[in-house]
Amino acid sequence: MPIRILACEVVSKIAAGEVVDRPASVVKELVENSLDAGATQISVEAQDGGVRLIRVTDNGSGIPASDVERAFHRYATSKIETETDLENISTLGFRGEALPSITAAADVEMLTKADVDTAGSYLHLKSNNIAKRDKRTRPQGTTVTVHHLFRNVPARLKFLKAATTESGHIANLLSQYALAFPEVRFNLVVDGRLTLQTSGNGSLEDVVAEIYGLEVAGQMLKIADTDQVPGVSGMVSPPSLARSSRSYLSFFVNRRWVSSSLLARATEDAYHGLLMTGKHPIAIINISLPPQELDINVHPTKRDVKFRNSQIVYAAVQKSIQKVLVKAPTPEVKTGAPSFIPPPSLWTVKGAGPVSLPILRVLGQLASNYIMAEGPEGLYLIDQHAAHERVLFEKILVQRAQRQIEIQGLLEPVSLELTPKQEEVLKKKGELLGEFGFSLEPFGGRSYLLKAVPAIMREGNLAETVGELLDSLAIEEEPAKRDEKIAQSVACHSAVKAGHSLNAEEMRELIKQLEQTRQPRTCPHGRPTMIHLSSRQLEKEFGRTG
Ligand code: ADP
Ligand code: MG
Repeated sequence: MPIRILACEVVSKIAAGEVVDRPASVVKELVENSLDAGATQISVEAQDGGVRLIRVTDNGSGIPASDVERAFHRYATSKIETETDLENISTLGFRGEALPSITAAADVEMLTKADVDTAGSYLHLKSNNIAKRDKRTRPQGTTVTVHHLFRNVPARLKFLKAATTESGHIANLLSQYALAFPEVRFNLVVDGRLTLQTSGNGSLEDVVAEIYGLEVAGQMLKIADTDQVPGVSGMVSPPSLARSSRSYLSFFVNRRWVSSSLLARATEDAYHGLLMTGKHPIAIINISLPPQELDINVHPTKRDVKFRNSQIVYAAVQKSIQKVLVKAPTPEVKTGAPSFIPPPSLWTVKGAGPVSLPILRVLGQLASNYIMAEGPEGLYLIDQHAAHERVLFEKILVQRAQRQIEIQGLLEPVSLELTPKQEEVLKKKGELLGEFGFSLEPFGGRSYLLKAVPAIMREGNLAETVGELLDSLAIEEEPAKRDEKIAQSVACHSAVKAGHSLNAEEMRELIKQLEQTRQPRTCPHGRPTMIHLSSRQLEKEFGRTG
């Protein structure tokens, strides 16, 4: 064949493949854009492993109407201008390739609003062409929705793993960004399920608790950030807490999530002689370096990073970790005491931490209060109110994260009389309550008319619920806690009550929904939703085994 210059579309397909090779890389690019835009809240939604849908919503700067279309051109960026800027990169993106690469591989909708504009700009791109554009209202920020990723790139689609694997990559990616940006509030909803939520309160320990659990977070050792260059900060596990895989090592360079064998080596070398072979630490390490000291432009996805002086970086990381490890408590010596402590009673209550439920078969209802169910592990007794509370609680938080709270208008408004304090709270928090679906209108004096409530709520004492809600909101709290409180209160008042008899279909449905929650074993207040009698315990009780 003669030599020819490739057509523009072919070039862009090849280039796009380098940036966007799987759904998680789309999420990565969009989340990085949100972070670059200064967002403090980032919500991500994925369906079918991200192939059917990916949506990233942020409250960042937004894109001015005059620039929106340009953002989709290849090599269009607001982050650098000249060649010298390349040596001073302080943003996550700069190559101007993400949006055009994503639009080359999927249908993309964008709705964005910058503070200079009164209305948001909406664009719908199909096969890199604008299919629709108009103005829509939205608060400042950006939402990008990606539909049917790789539908027009069948070769790529063929290489994707099962949806659950791809969702796992997305969840891992978001966990990493949450670890790098504790001051940003992240939400991840996968197939309608809230799988990750951080508070954005700035505490790395809290993010570690959300991702690796309280028990791990409680043991992690903090690396104090010093003024040295390169700066090293983060958390590492004590030698007594190790994992069998390297996937608990997270490295960030100037808060960019990177994969680096150098940093992995520096970390593991710090534990030399402290861990059994095959064991690896848990580490979250953030290196800060002047941008001139590194080259992040090695690969289009920027996951690899080249240090100008890698030896110095290696030594700084290893030393910082060693310094906290010498202060770490030495692992407990086993004295031959039994490692299994028998449960104090026959019935054991399974603790919290996110654990999934086995498939349960409903046997019946007990005392109009408990659902009896059988699983591969024995018998389960489920508190119907606590279980339903958990289901509703997560449902509300999911709807909230997606800003899709379903609302029901009341045919007959309910009137209520507020205390002065409640009225103050209403003035401050009315908008927030509105976002959760409550609509209250003044009706003279301190009387108010309740005109709408979240659709999840049952009839019952609505006035009481609203009153309690206002009382509980009197204390100022960070947004995540506050949202949880509202969700808790709504869930509690809407959940099926004890003493209410359920038919088999209703019980099955409740168990099915409970199975899909993140923390099926506890109600939102932390009380157990179920107690479990294992087959082994049964056999023991009946004297079938020793
Ligand atoms: P890059 O991030 O490398 O600049 P992208 O293709 O990812 O390139 O984005 C192009 C431009 O679109 C960005 O430079 C930025 O100005 C704008 N942009 C993209 N996403 C957002 C967002 N979520 N918020 C604000 N601006 C954005
Ligand atoms: Mg970008």
